[in-house]
Amino acid sequence: MPARNILVINCGSSSIKFALVNEAQEHFPLSGLAERLGSPEAILHWQQGDERDSLVIAGADHRLALSHLLPIVQRVAAGELHGIGHRVVHGGEYFSGATRLDTISLQAIRQVAPLAPLHNPANLLGIEAAMKLFPGLMQVAVFDTAFHQSLPEHAYRYAVPAALYREHGVRRYGFHGTSHRYVSHKAAQMTGLPPEASSWLVAHLGNGCSTCAVENGHSRDTSMGLTPLEGLVMGTRSGDVDPNLHSHLARTLGWSLEQIDAMLNKDSGLLGLSGLSNDMRTLEQAREQGHAGATLAIEVFCYRLAKSLAAMSCALRRLDGLIFTGGIGENSALIRSKTLDHLGLLGFTLDPAANARCIRGVAGAIHADGHPRVLVVPTNEERQIALDTLALLD
Ligand code: ADP
Repeated sequence: MPARNILVINCGSSSIKFALVNEAQEHFPLSGLAERLGSPEAILHWQQGDERDSLVIAGADHRLALSHLLPIVQRVAAGELHGIGHRVVHGGEYFSGATRLDTISLQAIRQVAPLAPLHNPANLLGIEAAMKLFPGLMQVAVFDTAFHQSLPEHAYRYAVPAALYREHGVRRYGFHGTSHRYVSHKAAQMTGLPPEASSWLVAHLGNGCSTCAVENGHSRDTSMGLTPLEGLVMGTRSGDVDPNLHSHLARTLGWSLEQIDAMLNKDSGLLGLSGLSNDMRTLEQAREQGHAGATLAIEVFCYRLAKSLAAMSCALRRLDGLIFTGGIGENSALIRSKTLDHLGLLGFTLDPAANARCIRGVAGAIHADGHPRVLVVPTNEERQIALDTLALLD
């Protein structure tokens, strides 16, 4: 059987990220982004090998953008497209794995939309457009939350009245599951350990950041909760704050819920602390030049990350290694080193040369000999979504 092609689609409210994944090729034959959809500036960018191209698609919505993408995909895939994998942020308690998209699964994704009001409706736009455009093709949804459905109840319940959970689904769900699953499986492969008999702590550090405890291929705890705001300091998100902050700001400053939500999600995190940027590269450069805000943002980021990893270790009975991934985890030797400085009590010590070497997609072990294993493992959510789609095709 020739190697199969899967189109992976990740829809935002005004954008579509896509990648064509071939099961036999390490690099994506085609990838790109349609952005500013619904506006006169709508544009489709794509990359095939080293060649980049773009097409102005003024006023295009998701469906029109996908219809422009279709012939490009078919050409690159030589007419052999076998399925479409959609990233969906929230699967609630309905989905503990990838699912084939049909009227029943679509209905369930709509039902959990109140839990992810910014994301699921946008994901649905892409799914509905793709199902109309490619009616004969198998389409699959892969959820950010699904991997964490294996959390034990003591890890996923909040200490609030039980009726809020039973009647309104108020619990911890966790996100970034596709990435945590991919890198923990990869780490097992890299070290020759069976995925179903190995235990990992994972730090996924991108614009959004989360930690996860993975035991024998199952998520046992994770730092994000009901929404992707809980847990670590992120690019623009605060992570954990005192839950009374909302009422304090409302009482003392008269802020509305919308203002507080926007502040915690868009103006906080690295950006809020530094007063400079949400981008770790910018902050590292500014720190070298003595910028006090950037220095503080990095200190808080690493300390809070270390605290979260120590907390996650409660979920494991054994530890085979700690994994760094995501744009920051894969590239920042400084953040890895400063974080592990706080975890000396657990025995973590880095090999500075190996730590410096593992950047820009280089995977490997970065711990000093005789100390607990630490790995840098580049994530690849598109490939994992394609693998899940292929598994359902089979
Ligand atoms: P997303 O969550 O949007 O997928 P990424 O995983 O691409 O984000 O991560 C983006 C973050 O990675 C940004 O904060 C960026 O500054 C950081 N990053 C990328 N390269 C480096 C680098 N060389 N050093 C430090 N941080 C980096």
